[in-house]
Amino acid sequence: MGRYSALRVLTEGLKGQTGWGPAWRSVRPKPRYDVIIVGGGGHGLATAYYLAKKHGVTNVAVLEAGWIGGGNTGRNTTIVRSNYYYPQSIALYDLSVKLYEKLSVDLNYNVMFSQRGMIISAHSRHDMENAERLVRGMQINGLDVRMMDRAEIAARVPALDCSPNARFPVWGGFCQDRAGPARHDAVVWGYARAADSLGVDIVQNCRVTGFRKNETGRIIGVETSLGDIACDKAAIVVAGHSSELGRAAGFELPITSYALQAFVTEPIKPTLDVVSWSLATGVYISQSDKGGLVFGGALDLYPSYAQRGNLPIGNQVIGAIADLYPSFGRVRLLRHWAGIVDVVHDSSPIIGESPVPGLYMNCGWGTGGFKAIPAGGLLLAHHLATGQPHPIAEPFQLNRFHTGALIDEAAGAGIAH
Ligand SMILES: Cc1cc2nc3c(=O)[nH]c(=O)nc-3n(C[C@H](O)[C@H](O)[C@H](O)COP(=O)(O)OP(=O)(O)OC[C@H]3O[C@@H](n4cnc5c(N)ncnc54)[C@H](O)[C@@H]3O)c2cc1C
Repeated sequence: MGRYSALRVLTEGLKGQTGWGPAWRSVRPKPRYDVIIVGGGGHGLATAYYLAKKHGVTNVAVLEAGWIGGGNTGRNTTIVRSNYYYPQSIALYDLSVKLYEKLSVDLNYNVMFSQRGMIISAHSRHDMENAERLVRGMQINGLDVRMMDRAEIAARVPALDCSPNARFPVWGGFCQDRAGPARHDAVVWGYARAADSLGVDIVQNCRVTGFRKNETGRIIGVETSLGDIACDKAAIVVAGHSSELGRAAGFELPITSYALQAFVTEPIKPTLDVVSWSLATGVYISQSDKGGLVFGGALDLYPSYAQRGNLPIGNQVIGAIADLYPSFGRVRLLRHWAGIVDVVHDSSPIIGESPVPGLYMNCGWGTGGFKAIPAGGLLLAHHLATGQPHPIAEPFQLNRFHTGALIDEAAGAGIAH
């Protein structure tokens, strides 16, 4: 398929665009692989890519029930940041931000990572106390966050109502300057193209329905809608459907699945050049390169696999956006949608071995796994290839629910779930 470059764009233009091939092959699965990755979202494709690139394991298949990126990776609001609370989380998410910073070059695919910064506004004395506590905790762990006063926030986010009579008066806040959105489809397509070019088979429309084990209980293959496929190792990387596949393999996971909604307006002229997040309401907003205002907020209230989202949360999120940014109240809403996210009981992901020998997992990213795609893929690939967890992934093993060493980011960082 050749490398993408400015010169190639020019020469293809002169040749009438006749030389572009498909970005990845369309393949039928082989009877056997060294590693099968179940799930062709960002994390599954990144795992396959790093297995091939960093460990030379190329006899790998990614089996995707629908089309690649049709899950949460294609449905999210694309915010990349590492402003979590605990040192273990900061090590994980900041590794990911660093990988994102070089991803376009690494994949030879422009993932449009725009480090425009993220500003979190505080709307009461209690919010300010919380912000101070979070920022000091993050700074101790080496993160690039800083407090901001109201004047600085008003200058950076003119659309935010910073007047004294605002429904949510702004007291101040904090920011991470290296945070920002990336293009979700490009992340999927970039990893798919790069993994394919290293020999990985990407098989779409192939649903995994069960797992085959030998007499000792070790994984020897998967059952799929295209027939059985043998493997030495397999990994479940299916976001909101992890519990389902865990059950098919014979174990329960400490996960509850919810719908998470997102919203986008009609495109308008450039008006918001940061990601703006409000502590009091939990809603956040950014402007896409196309001009649409992309926003979201809390999880739906009850567990569900219905991928559409319910009205009360929609009303709450849209209401908060209109209160916080009054001028946006006049912009027309274009679309809204939902994805099913798997929330682990301590709000931190699981990356590593499952209770079934030979079967691994990367799941439980809840509302925040887009930012973690490069790190999640890199760390799971390390474990699959070496048999040992990477030091950064060590605290995120499933056995933390036996040892009690939980990483409670819901309480720590106060993230949406
Ligand atoms: C509305 C919304 C907003 C979000 N906003 C953000 C954000 O701003 N920042 C952030 O960091 N994160 C965000 N997230 C979370 C983020 O999208 C996810 O954590 C991340 O995309 C998960 O990636 P993944 O590769 O694990 O899952 P997915 O992209 O969902 O991929 C899993 C794939 O597995 C496939 N699959 C399922 N079952 C099977 C099976 N039996 N056989 C084969 N394949 C199967 C699915 O079809 C799917 O394509 C948001 C999520 C949503 C829903």
